[in-house]
Amino acid sequence: MNNKKKNRSPFKNPLLVFLVISVIATIFLNMMMMSFQSSKEQEISYSDFLGMLSEDKIDEVIINPDRLVIYEKPDESKDIELSPQTDSLMRILGLDPGEAIDRARENSRNVYYTGYIYDERLLIGLDEKGVQYSTPIKNNNPILDFFLTWILPLGVIYLLFFLLTRSMSKRLGGGGGIMGIGQSNAKMYNVENATGVTFKDVAGQEEAKESLDEIVDYLHNPAKYRAIGAKQPRGALLVGPPGTGKTLLAKAVAGEAKVPFFSLSGSEFVEMFVGVGASRVRDLFKQASAKAPCIIFIDEIDAIGKSRDSQISSNDEREQTLNQLLNEMDGFDSSKGLVIIAATNRPEILDKALLRPGRFDRRIIVEKPDLKGREDILKVHIKNVKTDPDINLHDMALATSGAAGADLANMVNEAALRAVRFGRKTVSQEDLMESVEVIIAGKEKKDRILSEKEKEIVAFHEVGHALATAVQKHTQPVHKITIVPRTMGSLGYTMQMPEEEEHYLMSRDEIVDQITVFLAGRAAEELVFNTKTTGAANDIERATELARNMITQYGMSEKFGMAGLESIQNKYLDGRSVSHCSEETKTAVDNEIIRVLKECHDKAMGILNENRDALDEIARYLIDKETITGDRFMEIYENVKERRSGTESDDNDECKDEQ
Ligand code: ADP
Ligand code: MG
Ligand code: ZN
Repeated sequence: MNNKKKNRSPFKNPLLVFLVISVIATIFLNMMMMSFQSSKEQEISYSDFLGMLSEDKIDEVIINPDRLVIYEKPDESKDIELSPQTDSLMRILGLDPGEAIDRARENSRNVYYTGYIYDERLLIGLDEKGVQYSTPIKNNNPILDFFLTWILPLGVIYLLFFLLTRSMSKRLGGGGGIMGIGQSNAKMYNVENATGVTFKDVAGQEEAKESLDEIVDYLHNPAKYRAIGAKQPRGALLVGPPGTGKTLLAKAVAGEAKVPFFSLSGSEFVEMFVGVGASRVRDLFKQASAKAPCIIFIDEIDAIGKSRDSQISSNDEREQTLNQLLNEMDGFDSSKGLVIIAATNRPEILDKALLRPGRFDRRIIVEKPDLKGREDILKVHIKNVKTDPDINLHDMALATSGAAGADLANMVNEAALRAVRFGRKTVSQEDLMESVEVIIAGKEKKDRILSEKEKEIVAFHEVGHALATAVQKHTQPVHKITIVPRTMGSLGYTMQMPEEEEHYLMSRDEIVDQITVFLAGRAAEELVFNTKTTGAANDIERATELARNMITQYGMSEKFGMAGLESIQNKYLDGRSVSHCSEETKTAVDNEIIRVLKECHDKAMGILNENRDALDEIARYLIDKETITGDRFMEIYENVKERRSGTESDDNDECKDEQ
């Protein structure tokens, strides 16, 4: 940066160059204006003018101090006519067509000019022939004149240039505008001297914190490690799904170690122009070395670290940037206490060279939080809002299985917003639980009115799910059923909630039961209304996915045994699966899926048939109340069951009749 200033020749100063260009452009502009003005006019001699005057050819004369501008009489023989359309259009618009013709005629006059000679005969002659004459009132202010013709255009042109190059240099990321491609000195990374975040702000993630603790300790006390000859790992790679706190953890490391924190996103390196990214990497490391000990944090490193051998799209700029990064990582002296932390949610696409020892050799997995982790995260975020004394974060943690830290933080905020909306001063448990639903299913859409018939179908559909849950053994209890439409497309839904600690393994029985629960909604529609609706689309999708995974990934079908037919890509993102089998096997897998789904559908039908009385009663209740809690649901269910066993003997005959 410093040496740039020294070797600056006048031509390297972009501002000066613009000034010269602007001046030339202004001169050019003025010349154009002049030639345009005079191109219509024809010079004649003064005596020619007098000749025209005596022949009565002149219509008007403008007397300037230096010249006479002469307008010839229009050619009367040439008829100027308006087309009928124009004529009628002008009449409609309330304009006078005659006036327009006059104006057109005036404009078509020939214009001449001649030098002004002091001549006593002039005005008399003009009066004699009835020629109009006038002289323009000139505001003879030379300063204003000069300003208008020279300074103003110059300023405008200069400003245009300035804005243009600034917007371009922004895109280039360089500081020097057009003249400065590649000499990037713009600050594209953030430097925080104290992040203000510590490990206390990161709940859960104990293993990750433990791994990072060592880095913190090293930054505190490098001598201890050097004495024994231990080298600090140069880089740590945080890997995990979005929103699990990777960025937060990196900040916490800097906060704990009390060192400066350089952060930037991988995508900020990669630019349109080859070489810019690489020069930024160089610059970043130079700056960071000067401030060592410090932490460089590269977020979303997959943007540059993508494996170079992926043939699909080779990108020179990215490769150069990556090479530069690899280079710098080898080059810096880790004993100074420069630590690089990177984060990604697509570790599998990273270039192998990045991961080899000496570079990002530490891989720290940041998983989605478990039950306890979720409760801890909620505790961290609930501190920022005022709450009722009786809130129960454990319940909320139970209801949010699968949520990442960012989701939980968002839920707490939603709850606070809801409390404000209802004009309360503190957040209640109800706010919290409602916000969970808002994140999962969208906001309530009270203005969408379902017809009676649709409402009934939705109610039976949802109770179908709930009953399948209640009847089967390997399912999570129902927490709530509602048929209030939500903004994310659902017309109603059944919320299940694990009773206690969630478990990490799923048995085949559980999967089959879950598929049955998914299909029970449609089964209820068929059983009660003898109809099929589109409301089951999402259920079907999820049931099919479960069945497919069961067969292709979990080795749970008799037909295929433990063959791995599919595997998951992008584990931390969408988790798409890719197939590894031949076309025939794929067909066989599809058939097997269809068979499993059919079996589960039959099972759901059986369950609902058996509990038709409970289905009816609970659905009626739901249609009436729109929402039913898990407890109330179980109460009605148990009541109906008891009643049924009381009248067992009568029922038995009927059952036999049916079969
Ligand atoms: P990532 O970088 O993994 O996508 P972030 O670190 O940006 O996620 O996390 C986003 C937000 O989520 C954080 O600012 C924080 O409010 C919240 N968050 C995530 N994980 C945790 C956690 N373990 N403890 C507390 N807050 C968390
Ligand atoms: Mg992040
Ligand atoms: Zn459903």
